This record gives sequence, C-alpha cells and structure tokens, in this order.
Amino acid sequence: MRIGAHVDSADPLAEAAARGAEAVQFFLTDPQKYNSPKPREDAELIRASEVDVYVHAPYIVNVASPNNRIRIPSRKLLMAHAKAAAELGAKGLIVHGGHVGAGADLAAGFVNWRKAFEYAESEGGLPLPVLIENTAGGDNACARRFDDLARLWEAVGSFGAGFCLDTCHAFAGGEDLIGIVDRVKAITGRIDLIHANDSKGGFDSGQDRHDNLGSGKIDPELVVAAIRASGAPAIVETPGGVEGQTADIALLRERAGN
Ligand SMILES: [Zn+2]
Repeated sequence: MRIGAHVDSADPLAEAAARGAEAVQFFLTDPQKYNSPKPREDAELIRASEVDVYVHAPYIVNVASPNNRIRIPSRKLLMAHAKAAAELGAKGLIVHGGHVGAGADLAAGFVNWRKAFEYAESEGGLPLPVLIENTAGGDNACARRFDDLARLWEAVGSFGAGFCLDTCHAFAGGEDLIGIVDRVKAITGRIDLIHANDSKGGFDSGQDRHDNLGSGKIDPELVVAAIRASGAPAIVETPGGVEGQTADIALLRERAGN
C-alpha cells in the first residue's frame, strides 16, 4: 500500500522524505493561473526516485465549461500538464471534474469532456493516465453526485479515463462513504487513487474544506475502509504541514495495514 501527501512543488522528494511518504502529489504551476509548466531541473531525480509521483492539474482547468474562453485554454493546459507530468515519470495527472455555469445544461459539460479527450488524441494522445476527481460543491458539477458521474463516464470511459476518489469531496458532496468503492467501481470500473481527507464541512454541505484525519466530520475508519477496498494508493491533502501530514500518513499505515 503506497501512502503519501500533497506537498509543495519546490522540492517534492525532500517533502516526501520529511513525511516518510511513499508517494507525493504536487502542482507544476500556480493552481489558479493558466501557466504552462516549465522543464524542472530535478526531473531526472524525480524520475529515478522510488517515490511514486502524481501531478495535480491547476484548479483553473475546467474542460467542461460551455465558455470557449475557459474551455479551450483548459484543454490546452491539461495537455501541457500531461506532457510535463509524463516527463517526471508521474503515474497520473489529477484533474477536477469541472462544472457548467449556473442554469446551463450539464449535458453540455459531458460533451465537452469527450471533446477534451478527443483533442488530446488529435495531439498525439495522453502520455499518462488522466484521473478525474470527484468534487464537493455546486449544483452544476460533472463529478459531484454519482448519478452525474455515471453520465460523465458514458462520455469519457472509452478514452481510458481514470478516477481519483476524494473522501472529503464525496462526504461534503453528499455521497455516503459506506460502500462507496463498490458504487464508484460500478460506474467507472476503476479507482486509481484515493485522496484521503477528512472534512471540516458536514455531510452534503458542498464545502471543500479538508481536515486532518479524525479531526473533522468523517469517521477515519471509513477512509481506511475506502483505501482497503480500492487497493489504490492514497494521498493525504490535509493541513498542518510536515507534522499534520506525517500523523495522517501514520494513522492510515497503522489502520489500513501494510
Ligand atoms: Zn482531492
């Protein structure tokens, strides 16, 4: 079982070592900006490392958007990040499920997702798995409620899309964590990564506010159960820096068992 943390991008291998983590996730650019990633000086070190690497796409990426000026740059940015993440030997590029505007038809969002994968194919194909992550908030999200996730998967499943299950987002998004792995797998057929987070917000609150395991509203045993049932690696995206995340990783190791 590989367990790690979302860390600062400056020196991810040092961050992994500080936490005793077997995996790390980081951003390649400012998550709020449309910046293409630049080559990294530590690329060879990262590629050669024993640590499993995941890259999180910028939050600003929304390939589902009906707005051209968001959707088109998002598509390109996703592809640029996929290429840069593959250069680091990353196991996956995580991207949020995205959303359409208030009052817009969610069906357009699913079509746009399909087009994003078609664009990637026209550009030579994705060099690594893109893992679509469930999100916590909004009524127009493509991957908050699992009945919508099923429609999304009808659009993207055939392109080999992967899935990242965030326990905070699921709980705050109104999906019961009991039996969640089976429910997801019935839709996607796969879970590639677990984002193992507690939630400051209550069930179905729509709040994307991560907390340390056991400190928020989620029974940590349900997070452990999701990791076990999925057999997937887990990344904590929790507060508290080295100390907080090391404790979260220790809790998961102890209870999920190696
Ligand atoms: Zn997450």
